[in-house]
Parts: sequence; C-alpha cells; structure tokens
Amino acid sequence: MERLPTGTDAVHGGSRGSVSFADAEGSAPAVRTPEGAPVARRQPDVEPVAMRQPDDAPVAMRQPDVEPAPQNAPTAPSRSGPFAHHAVALPIVQTSTFAFRDTADLRRFMAGDDPDPDRHEYARNGNPTTRAVELRVAALDGAEDALLFPSGMSAITTSVLGLVKAGDHVVLFRDAYRKTRTFVGKTLARFGIEHTLVEPGDLDALERAFRPRTRLVVTECPTNPYLRCVDLERLAKICRAARARSLVDATFATPMNARPLALGIDLVAHSATKYLAGHNDVLGGTVAGSTALVSLVRELRTEMGAVLDPHAAALVGRGIKTLALRVARQNETALAVARAVSDHAQVERVYYPMLESHPDHAIARAQLRGGGGVVSFVVRGGREAAARAVDRFRLATIAASLGGTETLVEPHALLSYADLDDAALAEAGIAPGLIRLSVGVEETGDVVRDVLQALSGA
Ligand code: PLP
Repeated sequence: MERLPTGTDAVHGGSRGSVSFADAEGSAPAVRTPEGAPVARRQPDVEPVAMRQPDDAPVAMRQPDVEPAPQNAPTAPSRSGPFAHHAVALPIVQTSTFAFRDTADLRRFMAGDDPDPDRHEYARNGNPTTRAVELRVAALDGAEDALLFPSGMSAITTSVLGLVKAGDHVVLFRDAYRKTRTFVGKTLARFGIEHTLVEPGDLDALERAFRPRTRLVVTECPTNPYLRCVDLERLAKICRAARARSLVDATFATPMNARPLALGIDLVAHSATKYLAGHNDVLGGTVAGSTALVSLVRELRTEMGAVLDPHAAALVGRGIKTLALRVARQNETALAVARAVSDHAQVERVYYPMLESHPDHAIARAQLRGGGGVVSFVVRGGREAAARAVDRFRLATIAASLGGTETLVEPHALLSYADLDDAALAEAGIAPGLIRLSVGVEETGDVVRDVLQALSGA
C-alpha cells in the first residue's frame, strides 16, 4: 500500500522546500529548496489523524486503492524556513527571466548539467514559486508531477488538447461543467475531434460509447450541480482496456476527499480557484499525473503560454496550507445543511452524496472521504421561489463559484444558466428551482440557521 505524505509535508510544505509524492516514499532524488540548496530528508513529524465519516463512524478504508489524502494540519511550526533568506513563507520570485553568470554557466544549463534541477531560464517555462506549489499539489494528489495554470478551465483545456488529435473521439458525462462541455462539444469539433455524451454515472453507456478512435474520457468527481459520483475505479479499468486516457476534474472533491489517481485514473485536474486557493480571491488550475503525461501537457502549456503568475501561485500555495482544516469544516457543515433541508416543506429534492437519498450514495461512501462543501436543493415553486429564498439569505452571498471561505449561494437558473428558458433548462437537466449552496468556514450552526430562515420565506 502506498505511504502518504503527512499534512505537514504535503499541505504545509513542512520545513522542506519542494516536496513531491515520490519524496515522501523516500525514492526520489535529494529534495531541493526553490533556490536549489539540497535539504536534509527527514521523517514526517506528525502522523495522520484518523478521518471520520460524517456520521462519525470510523471510515472503513478499502485497501489499497482508497487511501486518504493527508488530513492533518501542521501542529508545529518548523524551526527555520526552507526558502531563500531563511523565509518561512514561500517567497514570490517576481521575475520574467533568469540570469546566467557567463556562457559556461549557460552552456551547462542548456546541456542539462546544471547542479540546480529547479533552475529556470524564462518564466513561461517555469518559476520557482510556481514550481514549489506544483510539487505540493503533486504530493496532495499522490502524483509524480503536477502543473499550475491560470484557471481551472485552462488546466482542463490544455490537458485535453495535449491528449487528443484530429480524428480522435472523446467521451464526456452529460452533467460536466458547462464550459468543459462546450469546449469538448463545440471547440474540439472545429478541429475534427468528435465526442459522445453519456448519462451521469452510467458506465455501461460509457462502454457502449467507445469507438476505435476513443482516446479520452472526461468526468468530474462529484459533478456540478447534482454531485453525481461515478465509480472511478471501474471507469479507469474500462479506459485502460480500450487504451483510452481518463481525466477527472476533482474540483468538488479536493485531494482531501478523493484520490482519483490511486484508483487508476490518468490525470486529475482541479479548479484551484475553488478549494485549493480557498479564499475567493484568485483564479488558478492544476493538473497532476505521471511524469510522462504531465510533461506532455507542460509542453503544450509552454506553447499556449497558459502560466500562472507567481503572486497567484503563492496564494494557491497559501490556501493549500489550510486545505485540510477548511475541507473538514466544509464537509461537516454541508452535511448538516443537507440533513436540515432534507425534510423541509419548501424543498422538493436535496442532492448531497453523503445522504442516503442520493443516487450515488454507495459509490460516494466507497470512494469519497467526505461529501464536500456543496449542497444543491430544489425549492418548490420554481425560478421565482428560488429567487425569493436566495434574496432572504443573510450570511450567504449571492455569487458564482464555490469552495471558498465565504458561503456562496447561487440560483442556478438565474446565474450559471441565466441564458436558458424553461424548455432549454429542462433539456440541460437543470430544475428551475435549483439552488446551489457552497458552504464556507463559518460556524456550522450559523450556516444551517441562515438556510432555514431563507427557506421560510420561499
Ligand atoms: N471545473 C468545475 C467542476 C468547476 O465548477 C469550475 C468552475 O466553476 C471549473 C472547472 C472552471 O474553473 P475556473 O473558473 O477556475 O476556470
């Protein structure tokens, strides 16, 4: 069974500079700080605490494939920072290009013989701040390598483009994030790449959708907004048998709740805008996987220029330090909200994977460690009733997005799908009365009370 980095190593970065998952296994070359000085390898100082399911029953871990992401937050500060000038926090290296002492130095770098493996020569190819955060993302996702992007969409589109070519065929689940769906359905079609949509969670339909030129299957975990969960282990097997790649957008799960790579998935992406950065103040995206696949995507990223600014990378890195704490609270609060609205007179239906009423509850229990911070529910009375309820929220803010410290509420038919009339909404599978709530890190009781008082006026 794979050994996982602890929260101190992977979430916080510990007192080591760049930490990869391989480092935690003890098999990688010497760990280096961004400025290239080797750092002594040390054993993680904090053992992971046992994670509990929402109902507080101990998690029955399926061995060996559903291994937890590092859950424990750092308990002790490191004695000295691992970074330049002994900084404890990750320095922001604000430069567009990097200097060489002389041509001998330059030649050594170009020949790949530079003693500093983390040295860069131009910021579109790499930056030490960004790279340090990429290695933390790799550790969190249990990947050999990871990349940062300026947004989640840029991570997804660049990865997809890196994996397919004209004449290929892609399979996507119908409830994919809207922009992912239009990218695969419309933009890829312009380049001669066809696609098939299959119903959420239907792996038999997925198998039937395969064609000789099917090269990629894209899914989310859980999906937006109905939080559908597909059996990722079976999906990965189906893809491998057909020699197709699998890409999972695990934005909603975060590395705290799901580890798709450990289930055999090839690439995992996150909109870092959401939980990873976690403060509703920056856009970002990540992709993680094997060295070979990530290198392929990196080449395309360099061509497309889809690089994240080091300031934004540092904000993502800072967010990651508290990811375990935030997601634990968000799992707890979202489950409390889901339970509280389950039998509410104004609520037609609730969608939360850790509720027994959810269609994918069994697979969620087997493959997720928590249901995440999003609860979707449909209020009786359609669009106008949803609008009335949303207007009554006091703690939650009406806004798109999710996964941040502030609770956000979205009347789906009036925001993400505002351009669709009722017929088109029905076609897209969106109930007019759908409200998507992304819980923040406020007190659980306050969030629950806010939802209940808002519904009382729906
Ligand atoms: N994937 C999912 C599941 C999302 O919800 C979003 C945005 O809401 C994205 C990807 C796109 O991320 P970004 O807005 O960072 O481009």
